[in-house]
Amino acid sequence: MNKAESSGISDQLDSLGFQRVKNFKEADLMILNTCVVRQSAEDKVRGMLGYLKGIKAERPDMRIAVTGCFVGDELKELSHKFPQVDFFCKPGQIEPLRDWLSADSLTQSGQIGRPSAGATPVSAYIPIIQGCDNFCSYCIVPFRRGREISRQPAGIVEQAENLVEQGAREIVLLGQNVNAYGKDLADGTDLAGLLAVLNPINGLSRIRFLTNHPMDMSAGLMHSIGTLDKVCHHICLPLQSGDNRTLKAMNRHYTYNHYRSIIDHLRKEVPDIAVSTDIIVGFPGETEEGFMNTFRAIEETCFASVHVAAYSVRPGTSAAEKYEDNVLYETKMQRMHKIEALQRGILEKANGQLVGGIVEVLVEDMKGGKWYGRTYSDKPLFFEAKGDFAGKLVRVEVISSTPWSLQGKLVH
Ligand code: SAH
Ligand code: SF4
Repeated sequence: MNKAESSGISDQLDSLGFQRVKNFKEADLMILNTCVVRQSAEDKVRGMLGYLKGIKAERPDMRIAVTGCFVGDELKELSHKFPQVDFFCKPGQIEPLRDWLSADSLTQSGQIGRPSAGATPVSAYIPIIQGCDNFCSYCIVPFRRGREISRQPAGIVEQAENLVEQGAREIVLLGQNVNAYGKDLADGTDLAGLLAVLNPINGLSRIRFLTNHPMDMSAGLMHSIGTLDKVCHHICLPLQSGDNRTLKAMNRHYTYNHYRSIIDHLRKEVPDIAVSTDIIVGFPGETEEGFMNTFRAIEETCFASVHVAAYSVRPGTSAAEKYEDNVLYETKMQRMHKIEALQRGILEKANGQLVGGIVEVLVEDMKGGKWYGRTYSDKPLFFEAKGDFAGKLVRVEVISSTPWSLQGKLVH
C-alpha cells in the first residue's frame, strides 16, 4: 500500500513539473511516506525526522511533508513536536497534499521544470479499498487508516484500462482487507464481481490482489480464482498464529481448523494455488506449546511464502492496553529463526521440484544483468537472454533453484 501511495504521490509531482534529484539533500521538496506497523518502523521515521531537523536548519527553503501511518489525528500536536515539517497529511489522502503542493510558492514561482511522465511499471498497483474494520488486537492500522471505504468499480476499471494502455501487463489490487471490497457499496459488487469485470481487459495478462482476511474469504471469490484465466493462482492469506488461544486474544475470529478448511476449499477449487501468509511470534502469553502449534501449522499447510514478525507493542491498540508484552526478546528471535529455518527447508524442496519443468513468466525488468519476472504462483525467476522482454509473457525452463528464487532458460 505504501509503495502504491508513494507512486501516486510521485505521479502528482511529475504532473506538477518536479524533477527527481540524485541526493535528497539537494531537493527542494521531500515527502516522507511512513509506516508504523511495528516499533522498528516508527523508530526509523523518528530517526529520519531528527536528521531532517539538521538539514532544514542548513536549508530553511527545503519543504518537508510527512504522510503515511505516522500521521494520526493529532495534527496540531505533530506540528508542534516536529517544527521542521511543513505539512502533515493523513495516509491515503492525496487531495490535501495536492492542494498544498499546488498552493506552495515553489510551484508558483516557476522554478519547477516542465511536467515529465513517470514510466508505468509492468506490474502496477491499484488501491481498491482503504482502511480496515477488523481491529485485530495488536494492529495500529484501523486507528491510522480509519474504516473500510471501497472505491467505485467504474473508476477502478478505468484506471486499470489506462495503466494497460501505458504498458502495464499485471495489476495488483490492494487493500488492508482487500476481500472485504464492496461491503459498503450500494450496487452489491464484491471482489469476485470486480475481478470478473477486470478479467476481459485487452492487453492485460495477469491480476493479483492482496491482502485477504480469512473471515472474508467467500466461496464465490475462491471459485473466481479457479475460473477467471487472468487471476493468478496465488493468494495472500495471513494466518498470524496456529494457536487457538493466541488467535482469540488477537481478535482474529477464527480457529486454526477453520483456517485449514478455507485452505482445503481453495485447494479443491484451484489445486495448484500458492498460499502466502503472515505470522506474528511472541504475542503476549504465547507459550512454547502455543508457538509449536504455529510451527506445526506451517509444517502441514505448506505455504509458498511466510512473512514472520516479532510482536511489537503498538500504543493505543487493545493488546497494548490489555496484555503485558511478556515474551522475552530472545525468545521472540528464537521462534522467528525457527520458522525461517523450517520455511527454508520447505521451499528448498518445493522449488527443487520445479527444476526441469517449464513455467510461464511475466517479465518485469532487468536486475543485475538478467531478466527478472514472476511465475503465475509468484515465484521470482531470473534468466539471461538477448532482446527486450519487459512486459512479455515467456515460457522458461527452470534450470536451478534456491529457496527464494528460480533460474531459467528461455524456451523458444
Ligand atoms: N491486513 C493484513 C495485514 C496488515 S499489517 C492482515 O489482516 O493480516 C501487515 C502485517 O504486519 C500483519 O500481517 C502482521 O503480521 C504484521 N503486524 C501488524 N501489527 C503488528 C504488531 N503489532 N507486531 C508485529 N507484527 C505486526
Ligand atoms: Fe490490521 Fe489486517 Fe487485522 Fe486490519 S485485518 S486490523 S490491517 S492485521
